[in-house]
Amino acid sequence: MECKDPRCPAHGELKTHGYRLEGTVVSDKMKGTVVVERPYTVVLSKYQRSLRKNSKIHAHNPPCMSARYGDQVEIQETRKLSKTKSFVVTKILSRRSEQQGA
Ligand SMILES: [Zn+2]
Repeated sequence: MECKDPRCPAHGELKTHGYRLEGTVVSDKMKGTVVVERPYTVVLSKYQRSLRKNSKIHAHNPPCMSARYGDQVEIQETRKLSKTKSFVVTKILSRRSEQQGA
């Protein structure tokens, strides 16, 4: 399939810069956009505990990537693409395995 998306870093005009992050796709319901979740830990020194939290990032999903729910992806920072999007999917690290279920 030919990729004609101008907002694709590999085939279009889009240039990436800044952060390069990895995460899991938690939503692919929007056309051309995926939501990527990235766990991070917060250390509470007062109680000597660490909390696990998630940050959700909206990223552009070009047709040549077509990241789907459950995929591990690499995203890179780019110019602001919409009100909430300033990242683009640049690599599929691993597709969701069949054993994990829906
Ligand atoms: Zn492309």
